[in-house]
Amino acid sequence: MDTNLDTSPLALVRADLRDFGGYRSARSDRLQGEVWLNANESPWPNLADREGSLRRYPDPQPQALREALAALYECAPEQLLAGRGSDEGIDLLVRALCRPGNDAIVVSTPTFGMYAVSARLHGTRVIDVPLRETDGEWRSDFNALADAAVAQDARIVFLCSPGNPTGALLPIGEIAALAARLAGRALVVVDEAYIEFADAPSAIRLIGTHRNVAVLRTLSKAHALAAARIGTVIADAELIDVLRRCQAPYPLPSACTDEALRALGRDAALQTRTRIATVRAERDALAQRLASAPGIRRVYASRANFVLVRFDDAQSAFERLLAAGVVVRDMRAAPGLGDALRISLGTPQQNASVLSILEARA
Ligand SMILES: *Cc1c(COP(=O)(O)O)cnc(C)c1O
Repeated sequence: MDTNLDTSPLALVRADLRDFGGYRSARSDRLQGEVWLNANESPWPNLADREGSLRRYPDPQPQALREALAALYECAPEQLLAGRGSDEGIDLLVRALCRPGNDAIVVSTPTFGMYAVSARLHGTRVIDVPLRETDGEWRSDFNALADAAVAQDARIVFLCSPGNPTGALLPIGEIAALAARLAGRALVVVDEAYIEFADAPSAIRLIGTHRNVAVLRTLSKAHALAAARIGTVIADAELIDVLRRCQAPYPLPSACTDEALRALGRDAALQTRTRIATVRAERDALAQRLASAPGIRRVYASRANFVLVRFDDAQSAFERLLAAGVVVRDMRAAPGLGDALRISLGTPQQNASVLSILEARA
């Protein structure tokens, strides 16, 4: 088994894309000038564009945003690629590493649906090594994940930590061991969309020693910017370079970049931290109260901003909440979750009303 930690992740990229240059946009040549007539843009702003800020194509990877994200995620700017949500990151990874119609990814259900969606759209096989539930805790079977990846020659293993919809955190030591076992064979992608709520170390710290680890982060959840669509892939700089060449020419609308920079400024970032602490306290209190509410079979300990709950009658719970105008996520179509709902944490008042609806006898 190849356990050489120095193996470049380029070996995992599709051979036909390793020297792919991608689209050469008007921004590719680093030219200097006063009058820019090289991109077929309008010389005048639109009447509705009061600040005249939308006339030109945006910088593909604005330096200020890369630096702010690098500071936030504690990595080098060359180790990250910003894009249209982590969803774009997932899609880029699948496309750059898996040959269509051929290669495979490994996932562990129940999990976030976009890994399988991207794979399917790309004609890539999806191998499922389901999470195991023992004594009310969700666990990944890391040996089975490694065995499946090797046996099926998979290019990517997608881990989600904390998991959606389980809320379970994966042990960082196990992730490192998996990456060591798959060095030179597969990329281990750790989706950390909810890690801010977990108070746990990020897998980003593994990238320096395990070049086949990539981490997905997003501003959509804890940073409250879902509509700005800013997600980040953090990985070995050589892999990031390949992904950039596979990405669409101008992925970041300038208005979204501006909002993200404001949201990462000192005051907003401080408030984000306070809100994360509130969500965590609310989550643990809600989970504890729900655990003894009538008609509830199980509440899973969560490290994210939601709780997964099993009900004697999930349909009735869903309907009682809906009748009060509260919409939660029906998980019943997911494998093994035929009695479960996923409830996102809201404001303290909203959480209190969820609790009072579910504590009232049906
Ligand atoms: C919400 C979520 C995302 C976020 O995706 P964006 O495209 O960044 O909004 C990514 N992964 C998981 C597991 C999620 O639940």
